[in-house]
Amino acid sequence: MKRFETRAVHAGERRATRGAGDGQPNGAAAGGSSGSFYPISTPVHLSTTFAHAGIEQTDRILGGEEPGYSYARYGNPTVTAFEEAVAALEGEGRAFAFASGMAAMHAALMAAELNSGATVLAAEQLYGSTATLLIQIFGAGGVETRFVDACDLEAVEKKVAELKPRAVVVETISNPLLRVADIPRIAEITKAAGATLIVDATFGTPYLQRPLELGADIVVHSATKYLSGHGDLTAGLVITGAPYDAALDQIRKLVGGVMAPFEAWLALRGLKTLPLRMERQCENARLLATRLSAHPKVAKVYHPAEKDHPDNEVARRILANTGGLVSFDLAVDDPEEGRAAAFRFLNALDLCVRAPSLGDIYTLAIHPSTASHRELSPSRRKRLGVKESLIRVSLGIEHPEDIAGDIEQALESV
Ligand SMILES: *Cc1c(COP(=O)(O)O)cnc(C)c1O
Repeated sequence: MKRFETRAVHAGERRATRGAGDGQPNGAAAGGSSGSFYPISTPVHLSTTFAHAGIEQTDRILGGEEPGYSYARYGNPTVTAFEEAVAALEGEGRAFAFASGMAAMHAALMAAELNSGATVLAAEQLYGSTATLLIQIFGAGGVETRFVDACDLEAVEKKVAELKPRAVVVETISNPLLRVADIPRIAEITKAAGATLIVDATFGTPYLQRPLELGADIVVHSATKYLSGHGDLTAGLVITGAPYDAALDQIRKLVGGVMAPFEAWLALRGLKTLPLRMERQCENARLLATRLSAHPKVAKVYHPAEKDHPDNEVARRILANTGGLVSFDLAVDDPEEGRAAAFRFLNALDLCVRAPSLGDIYTLAIHPSTASHRELSPSRRKRLGVKESLIRVSLGIEHPEDIAGDIEQALESV
């Protein structure tokens, strides 16, 4: 198998035209004009349906006896190209693309057979919408969700033994304190208990970690973030193998949250530079973390490469690099002043963009307690360590001096 960087550039490409010209639909004369050329970049196939040389072939394709495309909700060649590229980067399994990361997570939970009476054990650091999806949507269907600190392996082991959950849901790197879950150890626990391990690898990407290789059963990505990387599309993916892929295929067809072809084309283009972008973003994050650690207006820096980060050892062992995010607490004398100081800091930013999301080529800064963690009660935020004075930065690919310069000038107004 070719190396990661090479696969990122080539995987999935030049497949869509295989078989083109084999026959013309509806009796049109087979033209000699197309010859044997094919585009080096996969086209955007804007077609809601696909015709074949004869109804017999359509019958075979609909019956699954022959690979091919029929109706766009069942599959689209541009979307397949993106799926093949991501599967090639994850190293194993089959990838299923969805209209958003949340649609992908929903499908993964359905594929894990979370139906009435089932229990799911979820990381308490989980992405807010995933927690709400479990509690509100799956909860209404009779699924019980319990939470655990995914970085406390003893607690995970105890809760798995006690609750016998059908599925365990964790993230590779959590938001906003960038805790790193020990996926190989958690996979040992879930395997022994017969639970499905679902890993949301959005913050890690296959460049930093490939959870299927570490024992996870199902990997979920919001492709809105690092995989596409340019802040211009919403999409998600589920990567898995037997015994979940048949269910996923069916769920996607019937629920219909499919990825659109133009988004797939943009995402496939973005994916080619994932290794280059991630390398720069990780480097920018490390440099910023070091700079902020020594800054008088910063009380604490959260970054897995920092020696005092609780998961520094785990990160070294299971991640290829320490990720493109940095969070930090502003130094405020009065804790009541935290929110006002954070707002002053964010309003003073000039280069870094004040906007939710992450993983873009642009550096983005957010205030977690009024953004990603807004829906949580103040006491829950406090327990998770999400202070009013906390800022999260998703590093872009700009020059590190320009990023640090902007953040340092904004710190003057704290
Ligand atoms: C953004 C995000 C999601 C949801 O993805 P969408 O594409 O916005 O639906 C899920 N999990 C994590 C960790 C995320 O950052």
